Amino acid sequence: MKLLIADDDLTSRTILASVTRKWGFDPVEAEDGLKAWQLLQQDDAPQLLLLDWEMPGIDGLTLCQRVRQQAGDEPRFIIMLTARSKTEDIVKGLGAGANDYIAKPFEIAELQARLQVAKRMLELQQELLRMKDHLMYQANHDELTGLMNRRAVMDALTKEVARSQRQHQPLCIGLCDVDHFKQINDSHGHLTGDQVLQQVSKRMSQTLRPYDHIGRYGGEEFLIVLTAEHTQGFQLFERIRHAISDQSFEIDELSLEITMSIGVVLIDPDDTDLMQNSLLAQADEILYAAKDRGRNCTLVAREPDPA
Ligand code: GH3
Ligand code: MG
Ligand code: MG
Ligand code: MG
Repeated sequence: MKLLIADDDLTSRTILASVTRKWGFDPVEAEDGLKAWQLLQQDDAPQLLLLDWEMPGIDGLTLCQRVRQQAGDEPRFIIMLTARSKTEDIVKGLGAGANDYIAKPFEIAELQARLQVAKRMLELQQELLRMKDHLMYQANHDELTGLMNRRAVMDALTKEVARSQRQHQPLCIGLCDVDHFKQINDSHGHLTGDQVLQQVSKRMSQTLRPYDHIGRYGGEEFLIVLTAEHTQGFQLFERIRHAISDQSFEIDELSLEITMSIGVVLIDPDDTDLMQNSLLAQADEILYAAKDRGRNCTLVAREPDPA
C-alpha cells in the first residue's frame, strides 16, 4: 500500500521511508506540503498519509484540512506525526481531519501498529465502496440483459425530457416489443427465450450511439430514448428493427427468425406541458397500432393537431 511521507526533515523522512518499506508499505516522499499536495492530485495517489506539522509551503494541519475539503470518492487515512505533543495540538490536528496523531519522539513499534490499523481501515473502506458500486449497478440494471432496468431508463427519460426543453433540442422515444415472443417460449422453452432476449438486447445496443439510452421496460419490451432530430431518430429506430429482422438468431442448434414492432413518439421541445406518463401512453398506443398493422414495423405517433 502506498504511503505518503511528508516531512521537511531529510533524516526523519529517510528513516521513515526505510522502516515503512520494511513493513511492506510503498513510501512516497515529499519534502514540503506543496509537494505533498501535488502528489495527492495525481492518479493513483497514496491513500495513507503520514504528515509532519511544521513544513514549508503548506503546513501539515492546513494540508489535512485541504485533503478533507477535497471532494472525492477515495478514502484517505491521515496520521499526523509531529513534535507538537500538547493536548491542544492533538485536539487541533484531529479537528482538522486527521484520523490519528502520534507525538515525537515515538516508539517505532507503536508507529508500526498504528500504520497497520490505518491499512485495515482503508481496506475495509475500499471493500465497502466496492460493495456500494456493486449494489448501485444491481439497482439500475436488468440482470438478464445487462441493460438499464425500468426505473433507470425512466429516470433517464425524465432527465432527457427536461434537457430537451431547456436546450430546445428534439427528442425521440420508442417502445420496442418482440413479436410473438410467447411462441418462442412455447415452442423452444423459456431458456431459449432468455437467450433471444439477450441477443436482441445486444443487437439493439450495438446499433445505438453511446449517448442514447436503452432499458428493459418489461418482459420483451424495451424503451429507447434518443436525443436526435426527428427524421434521424426515426431512421435509427428503423435500423434497430432491421438489426433484429435481417439476420436470423442462432441459438444452440436453432435458427430463429425474430421481428420487432416499434412505437415511436417524437417530442417537441417547445411543448412545455409534457407529461412522462402521457408520452409512454402514446408510445404504447402506437406500438399496439404497429402490432395491428401486421408487426415488424415502426410507426410514429400522430403529431397532435395544432390548436
Ligand atoms: P406480441 O407480438 O403481440 O407482442 O406477442 P407476444 O407473444 O410477444 O406478447 P405476449 O405479451 O403475449 O407475451 C410475452 C411473453 O414474454 C410472455 C412472457 O412469458 C414472456 N416473457 C416475459 N419476460 C420473459 C423473460 O424474462 N424470459 C422469457 N423467456 N420470457 C419472458
Ligand atoms: Mg517539520
Ligand atoms: Mg411481444
Ligand atoms: Mg409485450
